[in-house]
Amino acid sequence: MLELLTDYLEEALPAGRRRLVADHLGGCPACSGRLAQVLATIALLGCLRDGVISAPVLTALRESFLAS
Ligand SMILES: [Zn+2]
Repeated sequence: MLELLTDYLEEALPAGRRRLVADHLGGCPACSGRLAQVLATIALLGCLRDGVISAPVLTALRESFLAS
């Protein structure tokens, strides 16, 4: 599930898939908490510009998800 979060963040998922992730986030404290943590980290790093996450940051996030 976690690897889907980065796709969700970079809006790489088709609409139907995004809805599945959004629904899951609504009912899964673990994943929604992780997403909030990730978004907070991104904000702290100042990597969110104009609502877009830079590619290197996404890569790092993906690696951190896969490692967890
Ligand atoms: Zn979950």
